[in-house]
Amino acid sequence: MPETDPVEKSIAIALADAREKLSGQLDAGREAEILLGHAAGVSRSQLLAHPERLLSVDQCAVFENLVGRRADGEPVAYLIGCREFWSLPLKVTPATLVPRPETETLVEQALIRLPPGGKPEVLDLGTGCGAIALAIASERIHCRVTGTDLAGEALQVARENQDRLALHNVDWVQGSWYQAVAHRKFDLIVSNPPYVADGDPHLVQGDLPHEPALALASGSDGLDAIRQIVDGAPSHLKKSGWLLLEHGFDQQKSVLELLIAAGFDKVCGHKDLAGIPRVVSAKAQDGPG
Ligand code: GLN
Repeated sequence: MPETDPVEKSIAIALADAREKLSGQLDAGREAEILLGHAAGVSRSQLLAHPERLLSVDQCAVFENLVGRRADGEPVAYLIGCREFWSLPLKVTPATLVPRPETETLVEQALIRLPPGGKPEVLDLGTGCGAIALAIASERIHCRVTGTDLAGEALQVARENQDRLALHNVDWVQGSWYQAVAHRKFDLIVSNPPYVADGDPHLVQGDLPHEPALALASGSDGLDAIRQIVDGAPSHLKKSGWLLLEHGFDQQKSVLELLIAAGFDKVCGHKDLAGIPRVVSAKAQDGPG
């Protein structure tokens, strides 16, 4: 039995109630509007234009359920089933990491190294919902992009995103890191691998407990996956090919050292839009490739 009988509420009152319940979130007002837009099936601008409009009892019930789940920490992107990345609307589920704005830095750095023309082959390791692979594929239609993931469920989501976006220059292969592409070589390898240290307190805070641990945590210093990717890169890059990796806010120095020790050229760090060291780029030697 609900504590009180369900009632119709105006948009303004429903939003005010939700803001109060979500007061622990950084962006409670915006989150409440996104969730109400989803529950009521209208755009945010329509909500804001008609705050006096009454919501049905059913719309109120759906909205209150979403607000309760958000207050318990479920990411907004999972509650509404999508997140925008690189201006592409992407389906996301709890089988995939929620794409972060800082990962757009990785896409920018990849595009700089993929001038229009030619038919470069690009590999996105641990693609999740396909965000990076699809962003690159949408900007460089002539590229052939391969996205891999260990999780078949994630690749299923990536495929659905590809179909909805009608991008025909991407394929998906299931497997752990390079296992999925054993004998292939690429012009550019990109990855946002798991890089949070096991036991990092952030893993049990905010949205992270709801996201797949496989996509977040990677060994005692968070660098296990990055080490594997760096180790395998020389045998999967064509001559002068590029490796681009996202990493944690305090890991750039360690990742640059790993790349230098592995014999890469032009090893360089890049900051994200918030000014945090977030991405490294490195070029394979001009060997026989
Ligand atoms: N950037 C994510 C976070 O710290 C981690 C993503 C990752 O491990 N690739 O919230």
